[in-house]
Amino acid sequence: MNLFGLIRQSIVSLDKLFLENGAGKTLTYGDMLDRSARIANVLVQRGVKPGDRVAVQVEKSAENLLLYLATLRAGAVYLPLNTAYTLAELDYFIGDAEPALVVCDPAKRAGLAELARKRGGVAVETLDARGAGNLIDAAATAATDFADVARGDDDLAAILYTSGTTGRSKGAMLTHRNLASNAQTLKDYWRFTDKDVLLHALPIYHTHGLFVASNTLMLAGGSMIFLSKFDADQVMTLLSKATSMMGVPTFYTRLLKHPGLTKAACAHMRLFTSGSAPLLAETHVEFKAKTGHAILERYGMTETNMNTSNPYDGERIAGTVGFPLPGVELRIADPDSGKPLPQGEIGGIEVRGPNVFPGYWRMPDKTRAEFRADGFFITGDVGKIDARGYVHIVGRAKDLVITGGFNVYPVEIEAEIDALPGVVESAVIGCPHPDFGEGVTAVVVCKPGTQLSEKGIIAELESRLAKFKLPKRVIFVDDLPRNTMGKVQKNVLRERNKNLYA
Ligand code: AMP
Repeated sequence: MNLFGLIRQSIVSLDKLFLENGAGKTLTYGDMLDRSARIANVLVQRGVKPGDRVAVQVEKSAENLLLYLATLRAGAVYLPLNTAYTLAELDYFIGDAEPALVVCDPAKRAGLAELARKRGGVAVETLDARGAGNLIDAAATAATDFADVARGDDDLAAILYTSGTTGRSKGAMLTHRNLASNAQTLKDYWRFTDKDVLLHALPIYHTHGLFVASNTLMLAGGSMIFLSKFDADQVMTLLSKATSMMGVPTFYTRLLKHPGLTKAACAHMRLFTSGSAPLLAETHVEFKAKTGHAILERYGMTETNMNTSNPYDGERIAGTVGFPLPGVELRIADPDSGKPLPQGEIGGIEVRGPNVFPGYWRMPDKTRAEFRADGFFITGDVGKIDARGYVHIVGRAKDLVITGGFNVYPVEIEAEIDALPGVVESAVIGCPHPDFGEGVTAVVVCKPGTQLSEKGIIAELESRLAKFKLPKRVIFVDDLPRNTMGKVQKNVLRERNKNLYA
């Protein structure tokens, strides 16, 4: 299964719209083939050979997507990097991945060229937010035909570094089989066709925007409205042209604050999906009430692509991530032994299937530690399967507070706090404490106009939670800090509150 071969096969007509960027630029599928061929020729001229890594840290643009496709066509391995990474962080990635070529924003060129020189002269090309740069200048005079390099199922198509909240970031290796099989499954499961117009407002250095959104849409031969970032006003004006949008939960909470969000505004849409972080049940319910659309929540991760999805036709249940996708095996297992647990019990989520990566780049020990002998990958997520077969995620195994020697799972405390009247959401963290090692600390967002007190919240929880689980302090904030993918940044909260008990 060669990913670009499948994308090529899915093209219904060369004149068909491939993408428009919301700022007047449009590309047909014919343009996509010509331009990605030109860039592939430049990659080869710069010495990129099949299997080589092409590291890319650029702002999202149509040309950035073409560079991804060109890398696939050249048989090389696409390595996107979060645009927030600093030069010091890039040094690690370049040292670890040893790319043959680095493509960066012109503003970073000098710094990267210096790093590249230190690393034995890696080639550096530029691409800016408008899609201009040395790379595109060189492509302008390159040939528009390119013989796509043949790749097998197990050849690498991409390496994505995991966000690495603890320890060094790991490069998840993704094969052509991983990416192609998951995109085909999602296309069928979510009923994507060439009639679809996908509103694409996710970053493309991450699995969600690059693979879930772009690959799935391309395998359907549809069109994209490819926006550089999510802007609620802009998205509202484009909903009438689109059929579908894939988002992170923050997209939906922002749209809900927009006065224009109505049933009529979403009348042209057939599907809204959410993932990368938990969608609050409240968001699901409010969105349904306002638009008539039940957001379809799915669950996956960089290492595994997508694992589960709420059904297209059946009931989409708020607070669940639905059923294992066709071809994906999912079990809830005892975290220590890996033995499957009886239905309904909470345990570690483990998955196996063509979607699951073969391992971490040059980290055989870490890879071994995260796979069971029978091939199941230990996701690190904790969950359960309910009586109807819906998977629920209850937290991350590593998200644990140890206070006075007792283990406290933040998700349990957060669920109790979130259920209190007047609370929007909460995050529970451990902060250094002179007596207890860590003090359970709750960070709470209240509904506007409600008056909740620290004492009042603790008093409410006293009857529901064992004493050692009770927050020692409750901090009120307007919003929880989130990264671009909508994940709550507990590390930021811990840093802000590190002297709370000093
Ligand atoms: P990433 O590799 O950045 O995509 O992060 C993957 C992690 O995001 C998973 O292991 C989950 O912890 C979390 N995640 C993804 N989708 C969901 C979801 N629908 N609900 C809750 N957590 C999710």
